[in-house]
Amino acid sequence: MRLLIYILLGYLIYRLYRFIGSFFVYRDRNITMDNDNTVDEMVQDPYCKTYIPLTGAYKRTINGKTYFFCSKECADNFSKTKRDS
Ligand SMILES: [Zn+2]
Repeated sequence: MRLLIYILLGYLIYRLYRFIGSFFVYRDRNITMDNDNTVDEMVQDPYCKTYIPLTGAYKRTINGKTYFFCSKECADNFSKTKRDS
């Protein structure tokens, strides 16, 4: 009989942990959802004219101005053309 109480108690603690855990997961998901909103913001690569999500963009400051690129290669090529002109 005592064993049954222990099992029940263990189950309740397990459920409580799951509940608290799901609460934190929910909170984390809210934070990720906020990040997803930022992902939706698209920026144009000034070198290859491709649109990329802001968070995934390669950021580089050239002559005091910040540009967003799809890759490091585009950033390098663009800064090269900026330097030449
Ligand atoms: Zn590019």
